Amino acid sequence: MATKRDYYEVLGVDKNATPDELKKAYRKLALQYHPDRNPGDKDAEEKFKEAAEAYDVLSNPEKKARYDQFGHAGVDGAYGQGGMNMDDIFSQFGSIFGDLFGGGFRTGFTGFGGGGGAARRVLRGTNLRIKVKLTLEEIDRGCEKKIKVSKFVPCKTCGGSGARDGKMETCPHCHGSGVVTETKRTILGMMQTQSACPHCGGEGRIIKDKCHDCHGDGIVKSDEIITINIPAGVQDGMQLAMQGQGNAAPHNGIAGDLIVLIEEQEHDVFERQDANLYYNAFITFSEAALGASVEIPTLSGKVKIKIDPGTPSGRVVRLRGKGLPVVNGYGRGDLLVCLNVWVPKNLTKEEKKTLEDLQNHDNFKPNPTKQERGFFDKMKEMFN
Ligand SMILES: [Zn+2]
Ligand SMILES: [Zn+2]
Repeated sequence: MATKRDYYEVLGVDKNATPDELKKAYRKLALQYHPDRNPGDKDAEEKFKEAAEAYDVLSNPEKKARYDQFGHAGVDGAYGQGGMNMDDIFSQFGSIFGDLFGGGFRTGFTGFGGGGGAARRVLRGTNLRIKVKLTLEEIDRGCEKKIKVSKFVPCKTCGGSGARDGKMETCPHCHGSGVVTETKRTILGMMQTQSACPHCGGEGRIIKDKCHDCHGDGIVKSDEIITINIPAGVQDGMQLAMQGQGNAAPHNGIAGDLIVLIEEQEHDVFERQDANLYYNAFITFSEAALGASVEIPTLSGKVKIKIDPGTPSGRVVRLRGKGLPVVNGYGRGDLLVCLNVWVPKNLTKEEKKTLEDLQNHDNFKPNPTKQERGFFDKMKEMFN
């Protein structure tokens, strides 16, 4: 496949499809393109895999959220060049089609993976979730975080095998295949189904003499320092998945992922909306009336902006590109500066006198233009 199709399009559902609708759509496609019904048909095989991958992502709230936000880029790491592998698809089948095929569904076709070895179950480590708190400055530039996590790692004593001498033995019950085979009548006709070998749990290997340090699991808990590279522009609530950085799997299986949840710390002076930043500046009445040059903070240091003579309070100045970078795109947001004229709260006698003298002058009497009278235009200016 040259370009990847949209997962929703693949399953023919819309973005708000319920888990049940997803399952239904996938089941229909899986039955239609199942390799047993289309022997040797490469096109059907591709469609079968494509549907499995789409379902795998959309049925998982975490992956779905990443896909909705980043598209294929958000989840691609999980599937190699050739998409999902057949073992994964059939382990997925077990949970969805268990009700249809009576549990442990796995067809006996031989087109993929090359025979018995492919059926063996590889254990997977669980995903690990951590929260990372970031300041806007860190989000602005992207950053590297070193975080201590308590997670399962392979046991050093036995090299992760769980066996005292480091060796696992071939399961005598299934002769290492990890599956036991039986022929069943199904809605697709007679089908040879295989289920996980109960003796070895589908691994195809057993441990005779367990390692004392990990009690045969091959994994132990350990405090590890993990380095996380946070890309610039991330947002509160975003999740980053680091493949294989989660919990190690028993018996040297496939490690889970580390899911990093981004938490944004509130900033002292800036407010954020997507890639834009907002800043409330206060200027004196004389600066607004006479014009001035004032300093405005940005995430990358101070900048000077010019205030025109006769600037009304509430005017918004847009500093292009002074917002935050866009996380999965190009360019940056803007910094919107709202200029508020500061009205003094305490006045000396002398100051009062000066103002009283001024207020009778014609130029000091309010005489707004139509634009200045408009209330909602000002709000729109602020939020656009
Ligand atoms: Zn061990
Ligand atoms: Zn076995």
